Amino acid sequence: MTINITTWSPDTCRCELSYTNDSENPEAGSIFYAVHMVCDEHAHLATKATLSGERDDAKSADKFKVIEDTKARNLDQHQQAIKRAHLPHHKRELEDTTRLINEHNARVHTHFTEILAQPFAHDEHIYKAVLAENQTKNQAIGHLMEQNPHLTHLHITFSHDKARKLTLHVYKDAETKPTEEKFGITVRRVG
Ligand SMILES: [Zn+2]
Repeated sequence: MTINITTWSPDTCRCELSYTNDSENPEAGSIFYAVHMVCDEHAHLATKATLSGERDDAKSADKFKVIEDTKARNLDQHQQAIKRAHLPHHKRELEDTTRLINEHNARVHTHFTEILAQPFAHDEHIYKAVLAENQTKNQAIGHLMEQNPHLTHLHITFSHDKARKLTLHVYKDAETKPTEEKFGITVRRVG
């Protein structure tokens, strides 16, 4: 198992999230890791800090295990490289960068300690909502382009209203009804 954590900021809002992938088992797909930041639009979904400051420590412990494994892997790869180095000066150069690897690992640790300490860090429902919103937008744009082969991505922008209802803005004449009906959205001719 080689778990990688990827940070993701969608183009539909300003949330920042992360998910994991197992590079040795890609079929398993992306698995929610943490909510780093919640935008104003999704703030109402976020778990608020409790007075007692209680957090989901079991979930944090599981997630820290991924961080510890990543740190160990970074150091191990570095040590393997030192072992493989044939020329003494090459070995010395690598040994000199050990400090940087340790600093990097310490930064990763601090970074995720801060993220996982937030009350909404484990709010997978935010990840799902943001992901669904982003996918719907991508699928609706794809559908509109499929229906109107003369359109490209340059002809379509999007926005969400306060209720997060999607509107596509099209800068050319196009047949919009099928897309509006299929996705329950508004498509507006602009420009
Ligand atoms: Zn958001």
